[in-house]
Amino acid sequence: MHGVRTLMQDLSQHATNHPSKAAVVFAPESGTDRSITYGELDRSARAAARGLSRQCSPGARVLLLHPTGLEFVQSLLACMYAGVVPVPVPLPGGYPHQRERLAGIVADAGATLALTDAAHEEEIRDWVTGSESAPVRALRVALIEPLTAGGGTDAPAPARTTLDDLAFLQYTSGSTGDPKGVMVTHANVSHHTQSFAQSLDLGPGSVFCSWLPAYHDFGLIGMLLVPLGVGATTYLMTSSHFLKRPAAWLHLVDRSGATVIGAPNFGYDHCLRQARDRQLEGLDLSRVRTALNGAEPIDPSALDGFTERFSAYGFGAACHAPAYGLAEATLTVSYPVADSGHTTVAVRSSALGDGRFETSQGLPDADDTTRLVGCGTPREGEVILVDPTGERLTEGRVGEIWVRGPVVAAGYWGRPDATQETFGAIAADGSGPWLRTGDLGALHEGSLVVTGRLKELLIIHGRNVFPYDLERLMQTVHPGAEGRPGAVFTPSERPGTVVAVQEFRATLRPTDPVTQAEALTELDSVVHEMAALLADVSGAQVTDVVLVRPGRVQRTTSGKIQRGRTREALESGALEPLHSLRVARRSPD
Ligand code: ATP
Ligand code: MG
Repeated sequence: MHGVRTLMQDLSQHATNHPSKAAVVFAPESGTDRSITYGELDRSARAAARGLSRQCSPGARVLLLHPTGLEFVQSLLACMYAGVVPVPVPLPGGYPHQRERLAGIVADAGATLALTDAAHEEEIRDWVTGSESAPVRALRVALIEPLTAGGGTDAPAPARTTLDDLAFLQYTSGSTGDPKGVMVTHANVSHHTQSFAQSLDLGPGSVFCSWLPAYHDFGLIGMLLVPLGVGATTYLMTSSHFLKRPAAWLHLVDRSGATVIGAPNFGYDHCLRQARDRQLEGLDLSRVRTALNGAEPIDPSALDGFTERFSAYGFGAACHAPAYGLAEATLTVSYPVADSGHTTVAVRSSALGDGRFETSQGLPDADDTTRLVGCGTPREGEVILVDPTGERLTEGRVGEIWVRGPVVAAGYWGRPDATQETFGAIAADGSGPWLRTGDLGALHEGSLVVTGRLKELLIIHGRNVFPYDLERLMQTVHPGAEGRPGAVFTPSERPGTVVAVQEFRATLRPTDPVTQAEALTELDSVVHEMAALLADVSGAQVTDVVLVRPGRVQRTTSGKIQRGRTREALESGALEPLHSLRVARRSPD
């Protein structure tokens, strides 16, 4: 395995050692694969870097505006070779809130150039000229194709970049607030890759297969930079392709001979629910060794369900690798080593609410049991759990997860106060600085178990209630809610009470008055049942349960539920209810 050195040094070495080996293969929705070898990737990125250096000075921030594909990879590496800072972002998209978020990033990063490709030039130029934001209108637009076509052998030497330089700015998802630009250094990337390589036994023989967006840390680092760093091949497809047809990803995993796959919990769940048996004929998943799962809460029943369904196609239970991490720690903080499998622990829900982590073995009270997934052991650096005063907690207690070590990033771009607040925590024993993750968890038999997020915690009669647990329950009430996102939060005007919004697909289509009445009765019983369940489990007064059409619960570009934004949408009247508890209470029985 390599020592700590920049990704460009690794890449140059792979280009020398195995120039004609495929580095990245893109599988489009229709048509044939497009691939690029290590030799060609290194050459084209250097050529493009030379052109880029003429357009921006070292350290300038450059937006990467490409869909998943080879152009994205070339642009990313060209920036790194040129010593400018790439900022991977999603394409502007059609929704005002997506454009607002993007404009916020342009201003925050102080980006001056937008790098795109010929196929998206028009879209990007339209966005730039039509924007209401001055920083967006001031962006220059450049295309990657003419840059890579330039002569490249005398391109700048990668040695110019040091380990302390920024590799890229990673904007956080924005699930709980403003997206902030995490400053990820080359040293962070290198340490992270090394740790992955050792723990997951990775090398040039590994094959990765991903549908994750490349602008999100999981897709960017886990499924692109790690494979490039170790000299492996990575197969990519778009997330929209996966969402439409999860079986296409599974077949690509098979066809590519992938040994490492990765997705958040909902991705595995999506395969489980949406891939049809007839689409899976001949599928062979037996070469998969590691199935990374992270970026959002992990549901043990999704893991079990995936194993149960896909073991018939050769998938092994020991492949599941639940991981915990965040952009502020490059990507991952903890995950299990290869072939070790994962642990699930049953704990007493009532104790969890009081900050105690008590396993419920021998206490078969199903109503008071929460099953949680262990996310492996901390692999890079040190993890402690602390109470709100910064006092370290021992095993058996739930506290905030604090991290330190070589994968902790350099801070937030242009935000010294937020950086100090998040990256500069000092524990009661004087140790530090620690990264304050904002996540709650416990250590159980050496494994990190994540229980929720501090910011989203509901405090009901002094007890902690985790919205995610309530959201999981709502889905069990009716098939119309199964597998669909919901959001549980406290309304701004009535603290201590709970409101739930749940996406719902109505089963009865009201065409004539009789079925219309039946449909209404069905919806009434759904909201009542959900309200009773939520009240029972949380102990809170449930002031409203609102069913909305699929797609209406606010989510980040990476699919995470935005509870705060969903609340705002509901309270401002922007969220159109399909049916609600308030309406149900009013309607005659
Ligand atoms: P923002 O910081 O802008 O609100 P975000 O925190 O969702 O957005 P990311 O850095 O992409 O942005 O996500 C990291 C977060 O994802 C973690 O802080 C944690 O809350 C959640 N997470 C990651 N892995 C897990 C896991 N295994 N179980 C539960 N939650 C997880
Ligand atoms: Mg975060």
